[in-house]
Amino acid sequence: MFPVSTADRRAMRSWVEVNLDALERNINRVRAHIPDHVHYIAVVKADAYGHGLSAVVSRMLKSGIDAFGVANVQEGIRIREQGIALPILILSPVLPDEISSLGEYQLMPFISCRDEWERLQCWARSHEKVISVHLKIDTGMGRVGFWYEDLAKQDLKRYFSDPWVRVEGLATHFSCASSDKAYTELQRSRFQNSLRCCGVDASSPMWIHESSSFALPENWQKSLCNAVRIGALPYGVGPDVQIPFIQSLALEPVLSFYSRVSLIKTLPAGVPVGYDATAMTHRPTRIAVLSAGYADGISTSASNVAKALIHGQRFQILGRVAMDQTILDITDATMSIQVGDRVTWIGRDGEDEITANEFCRWSKHIIRECLYSISARVQRVYIG
Ligand SMILES: *Cc1c(COP(=O)(O)O)cnc(C)c1O
Repeated sequence: MFPVSTADRRAMRSWVEVNLDALERNINRVRAHIPDHVHYIAVVKADAYGHGLSAVVSRMLKSGIDAFGVANVQEGIRIREQGIALPILILSPVLPDEISSLGEYQLMPFISCRDEWERLQCWARSHEKVISVHLKIDTGMGRVGFWYEDLAKQDLKRYFSDPWVRVEGLATHFSCASSDKAYTELQRSRFQNSLRCCGVDASSPMWIHESSSFALPENWQKSLCNAVRIGALPYGVGPDVQIPFIQSLALEPVLSFYSRVSLIKTLPAGVPVGYDATAMTHRPTRIAVLSAGYADGISTSASNVAKALIHGQRFQILGRVAMDQTILDITDATMSIQVGDRVTWIGRDGEDEITANEFCRWSKHIIRECLYSISARVQRVYIG
């Protein structure tokens, strides 16, 4: 997509490589796992989970996805400005001053209460522009959505025939998709009951969706759902717990994260290393100072524990990760290490590989947080 020459890459202090072919293969694997009639809403919030919105969205179009989901209107506008006409769902509540953008750019928000509805209706009527929405039902996440026990009182059906605000979907969201199967099933059954309570059945033209990446239904026949909102999966990352259907998809890693060795030197035994002297050398120690710190996405929680690869060998961080620099202990290197050599934080190098999940355990981050925390200072390079 944006070819970067070897020489250009040598001048990069830190960079992320995004393998768009792997992304496309992963989407095809996920697609093959869900029935044909189910709409695939590709969630690309937060700059496509840190992979870069524009390149990811362009490639996803080739994989036959049906809609996009983003966090806010700014992200939605960025997609529209790429000339993309697919439906775009806004997943977080919309501020009153953002409503005009919904109409102007044809973005679909979730609606969670009467107030939100009335603000939209007021704008739509006065500008004579229809706004499409999905109604969200809170089945136990405790965040956005109409609380499921209040549906009868709220009489959601009255929203279905409004000429200015058009309901095109109904949705809920699971709070414990990868951590509590029983609770997820409880939310699922509350949602299916809510749909019945709203008079929705399999013949409805609305998009009905509940599942995100880690909680796709095992039995589609029993479900009224005809759409899924998939975020993390195509980036080849799973939850920390093993989930059989995710393992069966055999997803490939998409993102690799690299830096450079920027300085090599030897410290004597018995001296402190780095800010606040959180580590001491126990022997004459050869260190490599790397060209990345917490401002690039190496969490300070990784201090003195995380490892990185140089020439396929693992080395541990020594001392505290600083804003722009991190120190590795390379005393035991079996190969010669030079200034300018590539360092792998996430990805394969020779026989060894550090997965995004491993990197995020050291960072004490959840997987999506960890991908997103690789900062804008880190250049994105696209291959495939
Ligand atoms: C982020 C998000 C998703 C996607 O979640 P993944 O677990 O990353 O697939 C789906 N729905 C909503 C409402 C979200 O905010």
